[in-house]
Amino acid sequence: MQHSDKNNHSCTFCASRESEAFCEIRDIFGNSYTIQHCLSCGCFYLSPFPTEQQLRQAYDTSYYGETEQKFSFTLVEKAVDYFRQERARKIVKMLPVGARLLDIGCGNGDFLRYVSLCGNYELYGIERDETAARRARAKANIHLQTTALMDGDFEENSFDAITLFHVFEHLTTPAETLRIIQKILKPEGVLILSMPNIGSWQARIFRGKWLHLDPPRHLVFFEPKTFTALMGKRSFALRKTSYFSVEQNPFGLVQSLLNVASKRREVLFERLKGNRNYAPEYGGFRVLLQKCFFVLHFPLFVVTDMVAAMVGKSATVKFYFINKK
Ligand SMILES: [Zn+2]
Repeated sequence: MQHSDKNNHSCTFCASRESEAFCEIRDIFGNSYTIQHCLSCGCFYLSPFPTEQQLRQAYDTSYYGETEQKFSFTLVEKAVDYFRQERARKIVKMLPVGARLLDIGCGNGDFLRYVSLCGNYELYGIERDETAARRARAKANIHLQTTALMDGDFEENSFDAITLFHVFEHLTTPAETLRIIQKILKPEGVLILSMPNIGSWQARIFRGKWLHLDPPRHLVFFEPKTFTALMGKRSFALRKTSYFSVEQNPFGLVQSLLNVASKRREVLFERLKGNRNYAPEYGGFRVLLQKCFFVLHFPLFVVTDMVAAMVGKSATVKFYFINKK
């Protein structure tokens, strides 16, 4: 499907209409978009804004895999699991005993479960996918909400920490969600967000073929310095950023290279998630070759990411902000 007007909507973050095209992009369903760079706030956004039907199609259960795991490649799932545990341990160190924590887009609830193993915390999760939410509910003692965060859902100044791991780029109203987050987060509360880094080497080299653009699910992107400045204006003080991520960045390079070499994007990624219906022209052997490419290059790409991380050019970034409202 082609859209006739490729820039028919304003910036998803600030509503300005002043923008320039960054790249063209096509999703796995064949819909064409552009990524526009807002000249007012610096946000990069998917344009035109996808329809409800397009978003529903993109968020069907295959996004979380057919099984309990998001990935059907056991080794990958084990590695991802390890990094989730590490993430939980690091974050818990920043929290007071008995802290109240909200994980927006908590998926299967694994991160919150690992936090619960570290001590006594009051845990809240928001997950809009019913299947994932059901799995999260079955784990640990998590208060779960399955609707998008709205004003009035939680009391003002009620959380010590709020986390959004690779969720911010999915938000349909990111500026409004940030406003609510700031309201329900205590003064001096911690806000942790990870997201794709559109200023990364991967983004600039691969452009429309870059894995982390993930159309039409990812709607907004920022360069780290733009995002930090924009958060500063909202009285969120940056405590630190981290770039190195074995969980996200080396695979981004693997899949983006495969996207350049293939006619269809994200073939390996979709198969690893258990989506067997996607790109049936890629038979078992071709997918096996892609898996071999992945396994053989992974260690090298971890090293590449160490170098990229040193200069803030990794494919993803994690921000730690303190609420100075
Ligand atoms: Zn804007």
